[in-house]
Order: sequence, then C-alpha cells, then structure tokens
Amino acid sequence: MDLFDIKIYGDDVLRKKCKPVEKLTPELVEIAKQMLETMYDAPGVGLAAPQVGLDIQLVVIDVTHPDDDERCPYIMFNPEWKEEEDSEPVEFEEGCLSVPDIFCNVTRPGKVSVRYMDEHGEQKELRNCEGLLARCIQHEIDHLNGVLFVDKISQSDRMLYQSKLRKMAKTQG
Ligand SMILES: [Zn+2]
Repeated sequence: MDLFDIKIYGDDVLRKKCKPVEKLTPELVEIAKQMLETMYDAPGVGLAAPQVGLDIQLVVIDVTHPDDDERCPYIMFNPEWKEEEDSEPVEFEEGCLSVPDIFCNVTRPGKVSVRYMDEHGEQKELRNCEGLLARCIQHEIDHLNGVLFVDKISQSDRMLYQSKLRKMAKTQG
C-alpha cells in the first residue's frame, strides 16, 4: 500500500476547516486505511486528513504500542468530542507529525467522549476516554478545524520555538 506524504507546518492545508463527509464511499475507506499505514510507518498515534493534504473530516487513531498483542485502530469520520462531567484538566507533552522535533506541554480536558461514523458507516460513541486516547482525540479533531498544538502552548514555549517554527514554515510552498 502506498503511503501518504505528511504535510509540514506552514502548508496552507493544515489551516483549513475541513468539510464533513456526507456519504461514505469505498475510496474514503481506502484513504482512511492508507492514512493508518502512513501513521504506523511514521510512527505516530494519530493522523488527521489535512496532514495528508485532504480537507475532509477524517482522523485515524491507534494509541496501542507496536509490541502490544493486539492493536486498536480507530477510523473516525465527522468526529465530535465532548468533555465528560467528572473530567479534570491535564497537562501533557504533545508532539505532531506535521510539526517535527517540537514537543511541548498542553493542558486539555482529561476525560472525553467522542461520536463519529466508522468505516462501515455506523454511528459510534466512545465514552470515558482518558490518558493518551483522550489527548489524541482532541489533538486530531483540532486538526480538522485548522488548529495545531503549537497554537496552545505557553508564551515561554512559544518564544523558545518561534524561530524554529518560522524556519519550518519557510521551507513549505
Ligand atoms: Zn498533529
């Protein structure tokens, strides 16, 4: 299976607001599977469609480890997340395949639910997602709104990485 090229910070597509998927097609399922392969190859734990140049509401996630007995991939079309009532804010270090070599703490809700359409066209809901999964769901859905984790880092981290980000953006068309 061919892998996608991953778009890097500075590429306009990463700032687009993605369109919802009205109708699931075999082509879209194929794209989702190709995104999963691209994510495993990188390697990463999540990938959103704009990161491969497509402005559609699609993310893929798998927070299991390659050495785990079973992997647990999720394909999510039109995903929407909500904070659970007993959620607490959590600070956690994030990175992004589209923003290489930058890792910073971001504070986000610690417990969320997510609704989406899966690769069979079925409406699904995952409740009480925590840890890396909760983190990843929010990070990937941000991508669908043109938001990157570096938009959410502290002022001091922003100062620290400003020139690195500028250089990264300059190398993009
Ligand atoms: Zn990302």
